[in-house]
Amino acid sequence: MDMITRFAPSPTGLLHLGHAWSAVQTFEAARRQGGRVLLRMEDIDTERCRPEFDAAILEDMTWLGLEWDGPVRRQSEHFDAYAGVLNHLEEAGLVYPCFCTRKQIIAEVTAAGSAPHGPLGLIYPGTCRALSPGERSERIDAGENHAWRLDWAEAARRTGPLTWHDQTRGTITADPAIAGDVVLARKDTPASYHVAVTHDDHLQGVTLVTRGEDLFEATHVHRLLQAVMGWDVPDYHHHGLLAGPDGKRFAKRDKSVTLASYREAGLSPVDVIAMAQDLAEAS
Ligand code: GLU
Repeated sequence: MDMITRFAPSPTGLLHLGHAWSAVQTFEAARRQGGRVLLRMEDIDTERCRPEFDAAILEDMTWLGLEWDGPVRRQSEHFDAYAGVLNHLEEAGLVYPCFCTRKQIIAEVTAAGSAPHGPLGLIYPGTCRALSPGERSERIDAGENHAWRLDWAEAARRTGPLTWHDQTRGTITADPAIAGDVVLARKDTPASYHVAVTHDDHLQGVTLVTRGEDLFEATHVHRLLQAVMGWDVPDYHHHGLLAGPDGKRFAKRDKSVTLASYREAGLSPVDVIAMAQDLAEAS
């Protein structure tokens, strides 16, 4: 089987040193294993993603000398495919419409005396899961705003226990309960990150997912989706996140550490990669 990994930035800002480090590790893994690297723009959030950031990412990657294989995939061009996934899950009875506002959800969990927060945020108390099919269609037909949530417990009941292989941490038992009934689609964003990323990794034959450890917990949800959709399960490498000398992680809002700013200041790609390597060794 061909080794395929991918670099999948979201064009919501300029790339910073942390991204460069992530990209370098992705390309290194492919080089070591004689594989290929795909470049995927995760631009489903059409409010925050901008074509100029997409163009800037291509420029930065080229400047760094990181040559990806094949055409760039842009998720915003594939909303139909993600809607198809949602339809499939709906027909299988694994998603349900949720009409709660965030305010209502917070009020509900507060009234219940607990605000269960998982690593992916507030865990939905399941209010709309109990609605009857009649009530659901009535409210949808009346044009009520709604999101689609995964019934994780039903999905997990059908799949049984699941594991995935993480290259640094070994065999991990999937624990989708940490995320609860996550949102898989909304009116303004017809696909969630969870759906788009797992769909594309399968479609593109990705055998190794290389990404930051801030996304480690999301893999619990991804593994469940892969199982209910019958998708292939890649290997995972969740790498450590790069922090600056002050110990703080790089973020898109830190304009001073964008690759573009280093380039303008006259640094070479070799200097920038060496700087990332030094910081990674120090953190
Ligand atoms: N698009 C995500 C990000 O920029 C990465 C997703 C992934 O690698 O799975 O943080």
